[in-house]
Amino acid sequence: MKKLKPRCLKAKTKSQKTTNKINSLYIHIPFCEHLCHYCDFAKLFYDENLANKYLDVLFSEIDSYQIKKVKTIYIGGGTPSSLNISQLEKLLKKVTPFLSAGGEFSFELNVENITLEKLKLLKFYGVNRLSIGVQSTNLEILKSLNRQHSFVEVEKNYYLARELGFNNISLDLIYGTPKQNIEILEKDLENLLKLNPEHLSIYELSIHPNTVFYLNNIKPLDEDESRKQYNLILKILRNRGYKRYEIANFAKPNYQSKHNLTYWQNKNYYGVGLGAHGYIKNLRYQNTKSLTKYLKGEIIYEKEILSLEDEEKYFWITNLRLEEGFKIDEYISRYGKKRFQRRIDQLKQTGLFKYMIKSNNQVRLNDDGLMLLDYLLIEII
Ligand code: SF4
Repeated sequence: MKKLKPRCLKAKTKSQKTTNKINSLYIHIPFCEHLCHYCDFAKLFYDENLANKYLDVLFSEIDSYQIKKVKTIYIGGGTPSSLNISQLEKLLKKVTPFLSAGGEFSFELNVENITLEKLKLLKFYGVNRLSIGVQSTNLEILKSLNRQHSFVEVEKNYYLARELGFNNISLDLIYGTPKQNIEILEKDLENLLKLNPEHLSIYELSIHPNTVFYLNNIKPLDEDESRKQYNLILKILRNRGYKRYEIANFAKPNYQSKHNLTYWQNKNYYGVGLGAHGYIKNLRYQNTKSLTKYLKGEIIYEKEILSLEDEEKYFWITNLRLEEGFKIDEYISRYGKKRFQRRIDQLKQTGLFKYMIKSNNQVRLNDDGLMLLDYLLIEII
């Protein structure tokens, strides 16, 4: 895949002129009030002045894409709820006009910096989906992650959001953390399910370089334990009426994240803000993670122009994460029948086809295949 040199945002634009087929916009707010020991996202400590400067550049970046209307907006981070009330209002005022009627508008929040006033503001500006970082319901584990909240605070804010009329709430959980075991996981799930959220995102802890966990030599779960814990999650959530629609995401009927499906269905989206990724026509790009560069307007870190073959690889990488996989006719209309048959033959030859289910118009992985996703993708790609 051809990588282009980093370039200043101001220096590029023609190739990024908007098409009205791009239906999703991701906005990254990198500020946090504390830094978690496992986190490798683009983030830094909240500072009011810096956040003001950041929003100014962010707005110019948004303007540069000449966005008309999108069907989904996702404000993530970092911790978007760390912005103060006037910054939050400024941001919401800026982005709300881009959302089509009936669109999905998600906002990530941490309970330590959400207030009634901020929740009311989100509601007023049309946010209709909240994603709350819970990570664990066990105080000792939360402390080991360097999270600053308790589950009691999660419950309080969750019910507050419900009272204000938020009827689409997602909760995030991490398993495989130090000191956690299968009993604690079971308790976590029980606690979250009592809240009856519409959506759950449940991730296994990964150890990334330059995080506190990495420096402290914390190890991820071994394969057997990982499988055991994942299978428990799957069993409990399926019994409670949640459908796994992506390897780590579970939803009640009709509450899948439309925004995140854009990524997993390999569709175009705008990504703005520090460290954000975007995909416009056949261009994938990643923004710089350096705040200094970002504030100078040197926004794009890397661009990748995709050939048809590259796009097809991304199609597999993204769509296979979905429990429903992809539609064969959609694949064929994009990449041709011959290529499809070649892929299937290749999978049969490598013995990987046993992890796939090909029926009617659909190709997807079975439960074992989804467990082995990373390994399978290396073989497939
Ligand atoms: S996990 Fe979230 S809250 Fe914690 S440091 Fe990373 S972005 Fe900030």
